[in-house]
Amino acid sequence: MSMERVFNFGAGPAVLPEIVLEEIRHDLIALPEVGMSILEVSHRSKVFGEIIETAVRNIRTLAGISNDYHILFLSGGATQQFAMVPLNLLSKDYSADYILTGAWSKKAVQEAKRIGAVHIAGSTESDKFSRIPHLEELTLKSDAAYVHMTSNNTIYGTQWTDIPEVGKTPLVVDASSDIFSRPVDISRHSLIYAGAQKNLGPAGVTLVIIRDDLINCAPASSSALPAMFRYKTHIENGSLYNTPPVFSIYVMGLVMKWLLKQGGLDAMNQFNVQKSKKLYAAIDCTDFYQGTADVHSRSLMNVTFRLPTEELEVRFIKEAEASGLIGLTGHRSVGGLRASIYNAFPEAGVEALVQFMAEFERIHG
Ligand SMILES: *Cc1c(COP(=O)(O)O)cnc(C)c1O
Repeated sequence: MSMERVFNFGAGPAVLPEIVLEEIRHDLIALPEVGMSILEVSHRSKVFGEIIETAVRNIRTLAGISNDYHILFLSGGATQQFAMVPLNLLSKDYSADYILTGAWSKKAVQEAKRIGAVHIAGSTESDKFSRIPHLEELTLKSDAAYVHMTSNNTIYGTQWTDIPEVGKTPLVVDASSDIFSRPVDISRHSLIYAGAQKNLGPAGVTLVIIRDDLINCAPASSSALPAMFRYKTHIENGSLYNTPPVFSIYVMGLVMKWLLKQGGLDAMNQFNVQKSKKLYAAIDCTDFYQGTADVHSRSLMNVTFRLPTEELEVRFIKEAEASGLIGLTGHRSVGGLRASIYNAFPEAGVEALVQFMAEFERIHG
C-alpha cells in the first residue's frame, strides 16, 4: 500500500526520490545478507566500508572526479564549512576573496573575518541580491588565498550559469542547493561543499570535494587547529576519524545510484531545465505573478515569485497546502513565495502548481 504523498516544495530538508524512500523502508529492519538495520551497524564494519566506498565511487563517476580530489563526508552542515574553509586555507596575514550573492555568502564572510582578511570581490546586495554579478564587476585579487562563491542562492532564487574564471587562485564553492543538478567541471574547482539535505540526501552529512594540493598549503596558524576541524584529519581517516552520520551517508549513497540510473548529470540538467521552464513560463505569462530574480540570473532549483499583495500570498500558500502543494513560503528574511524543485522533485508537482496558479489567478486576479 503506497501512502498518500504531497508535493514538497520545501527548500531543505527537501524531497527525496520516492523509490529511494521505499528502498530504505524495505531494508530498514535488516539489510539484505546482513540481518541488521543500517541504524545498527558499526561504522568500522565491512558492510559500512562497502557502503561508503560505493558512495565515493559513484560520486566520482557521476561528476567525473579524478583521484587528485578527496571526497569527504563531514558533519556540521554547510555552516561548519563556512568556518572550516578559512580555518584551513586562511590566516591572519592573508586575504580571501568572497563574492556576495546572498544571505549564505554573507554568513560565510562572517566566519572568514574571524580568521583573516576578506576582500569583497563582487556583491549584488545593492540590488537586493536579485541577480548574479557580471564578470566585469568582479574585482578579484591575484594574491587572494582563495575565491569563495555560492553557486545557487537558495533564498533569492538566483544561480550562476557558469563559475567565473579566477586564474590560478583556488576556487571554493558552496554548492549546497545545486550540486549534481547539472554537469560540473570539477577541475576548475579546488573545493566544493554541500550540505546534503537539498540535493543529495537527508540532513546530517555534508559532502566535501577537495583537491589534494590544497591540503598542504594550509597556513601555519592551523597547527593550533583541533583535529576535527582539519581537512587533513578526515582525508587520512577516510571520513572515519569519528563516528560519521552512518544513516545519512547510506541514503546519500542510494541517491547517487538513483542519479546514475536517471542518466547522470546531463539527464538531470535536461530534466531540471524542463521543470523550471514550465514554472517560469507560468510566472511570465501574466502580471499577476512577478518573478523576483533577474531573468538572466534565475535559478533552476529555487523559483521565487510574488503576488500582488501579501494578503493574497498568505491565501495562496494556505490554499495550495490544502491542495497538497506544501512548503511554498519564501524564506522568512525575504517573504513572497519559493518553489524549490531540486533533482528529486517530480515534474507532476510542477504541473500541479502551474495548474493551481492559473486557477488561483482566475478567482483572485
Ligand atoms: C541551506 C544552505 C546552507 C546552510 O546549510 P546547513 O547544512 O544548514 O548548514 C548554506 N549554503 C547554502 C547555499 C544553502 O542553501
